[in-house]
Amino acid sequence: KSYEKFLLEAARRDHRVLGKTLDLFHLQEEAPGMVFWHPNGWSIFLELEKYIRFRLHEAGYQEIRTPQLVDRLLWEKSGHWEKYKENMFLTSSENRDYAVKPMNCPCHVQVFNKKINSYKDLPIRFSEFGSCHRNETSGSLHGLMRVRNFVQDDAHIFCTEDQVKEEVKEFNKLLMSVYSTFGFTDVNIGISTRPERRVGSDFVWDKAELALISALDELGVCWTELPGEGAFYGPKIEYSLRDCLGRTWQCGTMQVDFSMPERLNAEYITETGARETPVLLHRAILGSLERFIGILLEDTEGRLPLWLSPCQVAVIPISDKQHDYALEIKKALESEGIRIKCDLRNEKIGYKIRHHTLQRTSYLLVAGEREVLNKTVSVRNAKGNDMGEMSLQMVIDVLTEEIKTRS
Ligand code: ZN
Repeated sequence: KSYEKFLLEAARRDHRVLGKTLDLFHLQEEAPGMVFWHPNGWSIFLELEKYIRFRLHEAGYQEIRTPQLVDRLLWEKSGHWEKYKENMFLTSSENRDYAVKPMNCPCHVQVFNKKINSYKDLPIRFSEFGSCHRNETSGSLHGLMRVRNFVQDDAHIFCTEDQVKEEVKEFNKLLMSVYSTFGFTDVNIGISTRPERRVGSDFVWDKAELALISALDELGVCWTELPGEGAFYGPKIEYSLRDCLGRTWQCGTMQVDFSMPERLNAEYITETGARETPVLLHRAILGSLERFIGILLEDTEGRLPLWLSPCQVAVIPISDKQHDYALEIKKALESEGIRIKCDLRNEKIGYKIRHHTLQRTSYLLVAGEREVLNKTVSVRNAKGNDMGEMSLQMVIDVLTEEIKTRS
């Protein structure tokens, strides 16, 4: 019985249904697993990207942008051609084969290699909202949760072996802080250790696993071991968050890589003037932005926090006598960067309020004769609570504060 209830609840929150009713995005047969973002959905995407960009910049990352199509020769060098070819989309031109990038790492190494890097420059942290394509089987595709084209909040950290622990600690703090912004505080952390098939000596694996373990232990966080689950190139930490229905979603990752920097000839100059291969850390907080938006939609039932909400405010005049006043309010709030709609339709006020509540508009500002006279608006929040009459300046102050603090 309770499982039945769970299924009903999950169906009610299905992000594909919300995507349609809230006019966020669609998918269609001509581009399987690739999202057509509508204005409302793209607004969420851009806000999310802006937030992560801000957090990464603050944490010492430098944003870069790398090509979508890259010559087969680079994928052969990186090992993807041999190990990952089935998942890559291929194309060719002028007798050269190209692959649409399934991940950004080899390209980030190219940027790193363009400079002579000294140990003093490390760690170097490159981030990219990289659009990647992976040829998942069409049967496995599922809304935003499993797609063929996605954007990762990806970054690669080039550092020395001694810096791994500190970088892992900093990343863990950043990730937890970002997750808590969305209300996700229940996070499972797993350390995936060496698999049977792997590259690198046991000595190096010991060191890498210990770096991950001691980083988490020093932070006093709980983790479980996932024996043998590591990548062939190194151990990793996997972060899974729990949504309001108790479902877990693996989103964040921190992977130590000893293999790729060497394959792609990355190096830095040590204190003694020798050439050394840096360690490469692959890391993402949200993982795929598409999937994270799907998770957020289901967790909140489409009631996103104000800062993410595509339509933050709707202003509703009671009759056409208040149309000019409503437009004045719209203009004032828009100039403060607030996303606002003015509903001038010739419909009953009750109908309009219900419509905007169903559309998950965060705040409704109702303006009638009294409000025009008092130079105020009557405010209702998304939960339908009446917040009373407020001056325009007060509305602006309340909303901008809520947006700024991302509460
Ligand atoms: Zn990577």
